[in-house]
Amino acid sequence: MQTDRVPNWYRVRSRVVETPDTVTVTLEPTTNVTEHHRVAPGQFMMLYAHGVGEVAISISGHPKGADGKLTHTVRSVGAVSKAIHDTPVGSVLGARGPFGHGWNLDIEQGSDLVIVAGGVGLAPLRPAVEAALAARAHFRRLTLIVGARNPSNILYRRELATWAASDMIAVELTIDQPVSGWTGPVGFVTESLHRADIDPTRTTALLCGPELMMRFCARTLIDRGVPAENIQVSLERNMQCGMGTCGHCQLGELLLCRDGPVVDYATAEPLLLVPEL
Ligand SMILES: Cc1cc2nc3c(=O)[nH]c(=O)nc-3n(C[C@H](O)[C@H](O)[C@H](O)COP(=O)(O)OP(=O)(O)OC[C@H]3O[C@@H](n4cnc5c(N)ncnc54)[C@H](O)[C@@H]3O)c2cc1C
Repeated sequence: MQTDRVPNWYRVRSRVVETPDTVTVTLEPTTNVTEHHRVAPGQFMMLYAHGVGEVAISISGHPKGADGKLTHTVRSVGAVSKAIHDTPVGSVLGARGPFGHGWNLDIEQGSDLVIVAGGVGLAPLRPAVEAALAARAHFRRLTLIVGARNPSNILYRRELATWAASDMIAVELTIDQPVSGWTGPVGFVTESLHRADIDPTRTTALLCGPELMMRFCARTLIDRGVPAENIQVSLERNMQCGMGTCGHCQLGELLLCRDGPVVDYATAEPLLLVPEL
């Protein structure tokens, strides 16, 4: 069956509760899925909850390989994401894709890589972190900055702790407001970015989170001397077809489902500065 136009059916094999409104599900193809496309970090699938609807959800775990399994992290914010979030283990969901351009990890040897996530924005970045760790010798310094409203909103706590305990990547978790029991940094991710140990002339940055957060982070990096071309942002708009035909996700001349969701900031900034575009 065509994997881009018609959903294929996947069974929910595992469901991990990450935060009060967010779960990570592993989907296993049912027998009607005969074609397994590889999914790159930063690409997304259109997930379908039967009788409710379809939404864009990034790949958040190991890219789909020969076994065709998919991993997604879904935050319940409305009807469709709630239906997917609530789907129990053993039930079936539809999935079309993969779609879009993911993170460009073809980066010059010896560069610094800075990854900045806000909230559920860590989901599309997790496979990029894993890919960077797998190619650790390629980079000079790896830095991951994660911002959340409060500690209970932080995804992948166990993995973050493992990464932070290793000497492979510098990890900073920061929360917006002080809460009792939190001993880590408090403040916005931009403050962490000011402190990050980078060589701006040889830095690539991957940013995912609320649009305003990405704009402030990009500005901070540019002010530190990082070229806008070396900053990648993942842009979210209402996506329906996923294939660049319906036009719902248009941003200027870009159709984000086809030309994004990951876009370099030199391209994105002038478009994001136009109100209501
Ligand atoms: C390329 C791409 C990748 C995405 N990856 C993920 C992911 O990995 N995990 C995840 O949980 N969500 C992800 N999203 C967001 C997800 O698609 C939306 O949360 C979902 O479409 C909401 O649909 P709904 O019917 O549940 O709620 P709706 O009723 O459509 O919306 C509920 C609320 O959420 C807001 N909203 C809807 N869509 C978006 C959006 N795209 N961005 C910001 N706010 C939105 C609405 O304005 C409204 O306030 C992604 C979106 C895109 C475009």
